[in-house]
Amino acid sequence: LEQAGRPLQVQTLTLADPGPHEVRVRLLATGLCHSDLNFMTGDARHLLPVVLGHEGVGVVAEVGSAVTGVTVGDTVIPYLVPDCGVCDLCRSGVTNNCRTMHRDFLTPRYTPYSRDGRPVGNLMGVSTFAEQTVVHQTQVVKVNPLADPGLACCLACGVTTGIGAVLNTARVRRGSAVVVLGLGGVGLGAVQAARLAGAFPILAVDTNPGRKEVAHRLGATHFIDAGAGDVAAAIRDITHGGADYAFECAGRASLYATALQALKGGAGAMLVGVGIVPADDDLHIRPSQLTGTTITRSFMGNAKRSDVAQYVDWYVDGLIDLSEIVSHRVALDEINEGYDLIRSGEAVRVVVEL
Ligand SMILES: [Zn+2]
Ligand SMILES: [Zn+2]
Repeated sequence: LEQAGRPLQVQTLTLADPGPHEVRVRLLATGLCHSDLNFMTGDARHLLPVVLGHEGVGVVAEVGSAVTGVTVGDTVIPYLVPDCGVCDLCRSGVTNNCRTMHRDFLTPRYTPYSRDGRPVGNLMGVSTFAEQTVVHQTQVVKVNPLADPGLACCLACGVTTGIGAVLNTARVRRGSAVVVLGLGGVGLGAVQAARLAGAFPILAVDTNPGRKEVAHRLGATHFIDAGAGDVAAAIRDITHGGADYAFECAGRASLYATALQALKGGAGAMLVGVGIVPADDDLHIRPSQLTGTTITRSFMGNAKRSDVAQYVDWYVDGLIDLSEIVSHRVALDEINEGYDLIRSGEAVRVVVEL
């Protein structure tokens, strides 16, 4: 990305050799996530130029002298959340929001990429819109080599975020009523995790009625068209008084209010914010609505590297379905057309095969 508002450009860059603790990865596939789109439109700002992309699967091509845990030929996911293994959050058992994670996109930092001797930035230490990348070993997840890279790449961010929000952040109880608002890759991950957790009913909500069939195939028991009537009333009706859990996966602050109205009041209900909401948006909530209700936000589904590896195994074993989520596969020089498919709502998830 050279400039916000402009299409991505495919260019040849110089890639630095891996340092002692780094791994060079030859990427095989990368998903197109909405977060990258936010940098492209300028809704989120990053020092430019930058190599975007953070949903990759690849093969280790070279390891630094001090790297342990992976060797050349291993199938890996470069994961945007590092796992240093020693900070309080890595060791917490309930989150991964590692203290070493770099989330200041406007300050220059180390990048393996350069062009004519000048640095080209990397995204969150992974930069997967590339044939090759160099990643610190704390950001490399060794995964099941039987996985189709063109599907498993969704587990580097979007689908893992949805699964983790249900299983790690909320720890959904068997038999509880779950609502998922927003059925992109994140929401469809949440629907599947709710099914795995034994939730019932599972209500899937989207403005696009075209998502109804896929939601049902992945485990939703009900679909609610958000464009047709009072969503909260429909949820209260189906759940006989309100849901136990709501997952806001669309990234819209106004949906938090809808979700609260749809939850079972006073009875241990939980609202989990999952989608990335524009930075300036506020919540308007009546404190009386919060009696007995927990509101929290989930970052990357609190997923540690070990969770990502486990979710890849679940996909390989058929417990979760990614083929319903990846609707289009394109080549690297078609990446802008891939984002057009996302913007139009035609695609659930688009993957670039490298
Ligand atoms: Zn850490
Ligand atoms: Zn993402």
